[in-house]
Amino acid sequence: MKQNNINIYLTLDYELFLLKPGNNIDFSLINPTFDLVKVLNKYQFKAIFFVDAGYLYALNKYKDKYLNIEKDYTKIINQLKILESQGHEIGLHVHPHWEDCFYNGDEWKVNLNRFKLSDFTKEEARDIFNKYYKNLQFHFINKIISYRSGGWCLEPFSFIRESMKDNGIFIDSTVVPGASYKSKTHSYDYRLFPKKDIWRFNHEPSIIDELGYFIEVPCTPHKLTQIYFWKKLLNIFHNKFKQTPNGEAIKPSIFGLFKKLIFKTVDAVSIDAQKSDFLLNTFKIVEKDQKYNFCIIGHPKCFTSDTYKNLDDFIVYIINKGYTLTTFSKSLSK
Ligand SMILES: [Zn+2]
Repeated sequence: MKQNNINIYLTLDYELFLLKPGNNIDFSLINPTFDLVKVLNKYQFKAIFFVDAGYLYALNKYKDKYLNIEKDYTKIINQLKILESQGHEIGLHVHPHWEDCFYNGDEWKVNLNRFKLSDFTKEEARDIFNKYYKNLQFHFINKIISYRSGGWCLEPFSFIRESMKDNGIFIDSTVVPGASYKSKTHSYDYRLFPKKDIWRFNHEPSIIDELGYFIEVPCTPHKLTQIYFWKKLLNIFHNKFKQTPNGEAIKPSIFGLFKKLIFKTVDAVSIDAQKSDFLLNTFKIVEKDQKYNFCIIGHPKCFTSDTYKNLDDFIVYIINKGYTLTTFSKSLSK
């Protein structure tokens, strides 16, 4: 039986893909989400959905003008309401680049020049956060208490601290301890953050404060070996993915890819496509280390048949060990 109690969270970034937002959201968002929930419902397990409120805001802006946008908007809101009614939890996810995107009647024109909140002024960032939160919370009965920043870019935290507090959001789940990345769009460095699986903080998420208002539930890190990226590269060349995910993330730079092929990469434990192969083994390590929290990430746009199979295997394992999946609202309090 289990040696200690581990809170296991399955957290999904509910969003479109970035570079080429699909015109068919059934394919990239709605269906993979329902397929995931089918697996979870078999076991009565609940997940946390970090909803990209920037995307919802953009849909809302154009829905009165374009019938297909209105359809997308309605489909998404309906799905999210079903998820809430089934006991899944809704969190706030902010991708502010939607401020600069527009719909031309045919497709989304995406501009990533201002990809993260720190690409805006502090006042703009605060207004975007408040606006997105209000627009998202409007649709749900339960209070939103958690946040994840877009592209893992949480800092400077001072840009959003007051907004989070004002809106009663006291949980952040953005940090991947040990990870760092810098590109034209992204910028984060969590190498000097606490190597813990949960902590409280007040002003800076990197500084533990036992009496702080905020709780950090970091995404559980693990080391992806170079072999993973070499395999991925080979797969790209041979075009023999078992199944290509529907979504597309921002590709790393040549230098970024080169680094991944040479050094071990710190990555968040994930159920996306082939990354889901590592889920169970990483959990077994955490279990042995007597950790108390295990936070898995995923993106419906990146799900493949591997995702559902590996998740199912993982769930069978944790059930046998007496664990369950839990949500923030059930396991954490202010
Ligand atoms: Zn995202």
